Amino acid sequence: MSDQTRAAVTTTRPAPVPDGFPGHREHAPLDLPPLTPRLEEQLCDLLVSRDFDAWSEALARVGNCAHPVKLHGHSQRIDTRTGEILSSYSSAFEPLGVTHGWCGNRRASVCPSCSRRYAADTFHLIRAGVAGGKTVPETVADNPLVFATLTAPSFGHVHGHRNGRACRPRIRGPRRCEHGRPTTCGVRHDQEDALLGQPLCGDCYDYASHLVWQWWVPQLWKRFTIGLRRLVAKTLGIPATRLDEIATVQYAKVAEYQLRGLVHFHALIRLDGPKTPDGFAPAPASLDAAVLADLVRQAAAGVRLTVPGVDADDPARTLAFGAQLDTRPVRLSRRTDDPDRTLTPGQVAGYLAKYATKSATDTGDSDSPHHRRIRGTARHLADRAAAQDGVPAAEAPYAKLGDWVHMLGFRGHFGTKSRRYSITLTALRRARQRAQALIAQHRAEGRPLDLAALETDLLADEQEETTLVLGHWTYVGTGWNTDAQTVLANAAAARAREHDQWKAQRRRERTA
Ligand SMILES: [Zn+2]
Ligand SMILES: [Zn+2]
Ligand SMILES: [Zn+2]
Repeated sequence: MSDQTRAAVTTTRPAPVPDGFPGHREHAPLDLPPLTPRLEEQLCDLLVSRDFDAWSEALARVGNCAHPVKLHGHSQRIDTRTGEILSSYSSAFEPLGVTHGWCGNRRASVCPSCSRRYAADTFHLIRAGVAGGKTVPETVADNPLVFATLTAPSFGHVHGHRNGRACRPRIRGPRRCEHGRPTTCGVRHDQEDALLGQPLCGDCYDYASHLVWQWWVPQLWKRFTIGLRRLVAKTLGIPATRLDEIATVQYAKVAEYQLRGLVHFHALIRLDGPKTPDGFAPAPASLDAAVLADLVRQAAAGVRLTVPGVDADDPARTLAFGAQLDTRPVRLSRRTDDPDRTLTPGQVAGYLAKYATKSATDTGDSDSPHHRRIRGTARHLADRAAAQDGVPAAEAPYAKLGDWVHMLGFRGHFGTKSRRYSITLTALRRARQRAQALIAQHRAEGRPLDLAALETDLLADEQEETTLVLGHWTYVGTGWNTDAQTVLANAAAARAREHDQWKAQRRRERTA
C-alpha cells in the first residue's frame, strides 16, 4: 500500500472520539492486509469517490458488517391508537439508493463484526440470568446456582490429551484387538496432535451407537431436566406436580463438540422460588447450591432413555450420559485455575458465553478419518431406516439423519435456555433496533437521550408496542460492491474491537 493511500485512509477516518483511544488519533491508519494492485486501485477509487462519506455512514450503521444485506423498499411508522403516520422511510432517500442491514452471521470467519455482536448478546443473556438486570430481577443472584458439564459415554477408545500424561498406557487383556491394532498407546499427545479424538481402532469403534446417542441427546437432556425437577421436589418433601408452588428449576445450556465428534453440554442450573406477579419469590432456604449440585449429579447419572433400533435388524438401545460428570456449586467451589478463589457467577457466565460462541463458529465437522466415518455411517443409517418396507416415514425416526450429516448427527440447538432463565436474544436485538430508531429521532430533533433510563422500555415485550411498522421490501443482494469495501469493513471492525478492549482495560484499571 502506498504512503498516499495510507494517508488517505488515516485522514478520512471519522473524527477522533475524545476519549483518548490511540487507534482513533489522526495518525493511526487502519490495519489493512497486504493489498493486491487491483484492491489498491479499488481503494483509491473509493477514497476519492463522491460516495465515500455516504458509504462510511452506511458502514457505521451496520456496525462494520462485512456482508450486509441490501434491500429496496419503503416503510411507515404508524401510531396504532390514532392511525397517525409518525414517519416514513424509503431506501430511495439513502444516498447510495439502497438500505443496508446486518448479515447477522455468527461465524467470525464470515463476519467479524456480527459474530462479536452475537457473542456480546449471548454473554449479556447468560449474565442477566446469574446476576439479574435486563428485566431479570436482581434477586436471582442470591439463588442456588450450579455449573455442570454432562458428557457422552464412550463408544470405543480414542486418543486423548490426558493433561500431558500417557494416552492409554497399560490395560488388562489382549494388547491387540481382533483387527490386529494396538489396544494401548504410550504417547503423550500434545494439544495440536491430529490423532486426538481419533479411535485406536476404527473397526472396534461403535459408530452406529455413537450416532444413535447423538441423534437422541436433545431428548436425553429433556429427561434429565424432568428427573432433576422430581429430585428437587422429593428433597423439598412435596409431590413433583406441586413443585411450581415452591420452586422452579431454570437453566441455560450450550452444546460443544468434543474432538471425538460427540457433543457435551455445559449448563448453568438455577433454583428459583415460585413466580409471583412482580418477579420471583426467594428460593426455598432448605436447598442450597451444594445440595442442588448433588441433585444435578444424581439426575444426570440416573437418566435413561430407551430408543428403537435403526431397523428390524438393529437392537433397541438404552442411552445414558457418560460417567465423566462435573457439577459445581457456584460461589462455593474453588476455581480450577486459581484455587485460592471461589467460582463467581460472572465467571461461569463468561465460560458459558465463550462455549456458546465457540460452538457457533465450530460445528466440530472436520475432514479427519474419524469424522468422515461418522458422516458415512450417518448416511448409511438414514438409508437403512428409509428402506424399511411398510414403515411410514413418521415411524422411521432415523430416516432424517441424512439431513444432519454436516452436524455429525446432532439436531439440537447450540444454545438453549428454559423460558424464565433470562431474556431472549430476540428481545436484545429488538431493543437495539429500538435504541437506534430513538437515537436517530432524538438527533433529528436535537434532544439528548438517556438510553440507560430507557432500558426497560427497550426490552419490553412486543405486545406493548403502540407503533406499527408497515413496509414493503425486496432483497437486492448481499455484500459490499467491491472487495476493497469488505477489506475496509473488516479493518474498521478490528479497530472497533480494539477500542472495546481498550475501554474494558480502562474500566478494570479504574476499579482496581
Ligand atoms: Zn455481518
Ligand atoms: Zn494415543
Ligand atoms: Zn479393532
